[in-house]
Amino acid sequence: MRDAAYLDWPFFEDHHRTLARELDAWATRHIAAHHGDDVDAECRALVKALGAGGWLRHAVAGPGQAIDTRAICLIRETLGRHSGLADFAFAMQGLGSGAISLQGTPGQRARYLDRVARGEAIAAFALSEPQAGSDVAAMQCAARIEGDHAVIDGEKTWISNGGIADFYVVFCRTGEAPGARGISAFIVDADTPGLHIAERIEVIAPHPLARLRFENCRVPLTQRIGEAGEGFKVAMRTLDVFRTSVAAAALGFARRALDEGLAHATQRRMFNQALADFQLTQAKLADMATTVDSAALLVYRAAWQRDQGRPVTREAAMAKLSATEGAQRVIDAAVQMFGGLGVTRGQMVESLYREIRALRIYEGASEVQQLIIARELLKEMKS
Ligand SMILES: Cc1cc2nc3c(=O)[nH]c(=O)nc-3n(C[C@H](O)[C@H](O)[C@H](O)COP(=O)(O)OP(=O)(O)OC[C@H]3O[C@@H](n4cnc5c(N)ncnc54)[C@H](O)[C@@H]3O)c2cc1C
Repeated sequence: MRDAAYLDWPFFEDHHRTLARELDAWATRHIAAHHGDDVDAECRALVKALGAGGWLRHAVAGPGQAIDTRAICLIRETLGRHSGLADFAFAMQGLGSGAISLQGTPGQRARYLDRVARGEAIAAFALSEPQAGSDVAAMQCAARIEGDHAVIDGEKTWISNGGIADFYVVFCRTGEAPGARGISAFIVDADTPGLHIAERIEVIAPHPLARLRFENCRVPLTQRIGEAGEGFKVAMRTLDVFRTSVAAAALGFARRALDEGLAHATQRRMFNQALADFQLTQAKLADMATTVDSAALLVYRAAWQRDQGRPVTREAAMAKLSATEGAQRVIDAAVQMFGGLGVTRGQMVESLYREIRALRIYEGASEVQQLIIARELLKEMKS
């Protein structure tokens, strides 16, 4: 870890500092920066390794335990610095099982959470649909109740871990009320008849991703998470935890880009001096470092505030907006410093450039975060 002075910030407790340092040492030994072409196999192996290393325990919460947002953020930042795919593998175990950690019954918790924490079951979170992304309450995927089962029909898309997950937490319309108040959440095991992987989706930074189709997919009502019609709240509570952690992953990517940029600028010689000797380069490095530190302050303020049990709607939105947009700029500056090498496959900055892009879109696009921040400000004005 090049500069871990930020771990001394008052946002953290000692066990967080130890966690970040131990994970960094573990990741240096166990996580490759680049992965093979078989993204499914790579992801399965990463989930197993993270489970065996004990890191996935932090992605789930035991009975009566709160989710430790600072631990999740430090883990995502650290993994993000080592490998985007390792961060993804960790994050999806948390996001995919988050609703069960937050609101699962004892039976659901016993059946899924231990296996998720050991890396023996892969989790997925199925909320988005072709016509319901940012406007998630427009979802059409529906479940009708037949006796003691829910029967699901419809589609979900952009589902991370789609195709390799062992279970999906699926949000569907159950009709108790119009809009967001008529949605329920169900755990659907991957081998449930009627659940099909309709299409695998390829994105610029390869991750397992799929469109799912449900046709007469029968799920026992004991698989419902929370009350009927409360699914939207379940989804929002889950995203509330993990939105700040998306910002933390972006922070990890940005820190790595800054490290790469510094190393390259000091070593690359041109016009009889190092690239870092030019003031134009120094201005870039200064902007990059300032962007990284401001993102870190916003990320860990939001994480700390959530761990105090205080509302974080505005703070999490600020962290996600600032860290993801800032990381894109920092990584772009690093690519520029690398010249032709910066766009060459196999270079870390090239892979970071592809990895960061989706983070400005998923779990609430930047524009959605801007609207949330403004809405909270205006609400305060009126109160
Ligand atoms: C790599 C990846 C992984 C994903 N993983 C998952 C997953 O595991 N589970 C899941 O459920 N979903 C997942 N998603 C889906 C993701 O959450 C959606 O892509 C996201 O919510 C945006 O929805 P959309 O793609 O339909 O874009 P749209 O809703 O069509 O939005 C398009 C753009 O419109 C703009 N916009 C949106 N709202 C406003 C507004 N109010 N004012 C002005 N402009 C606006 C934004 O720039 C936005 O990017 C994933 C997406 C990606 C790319």
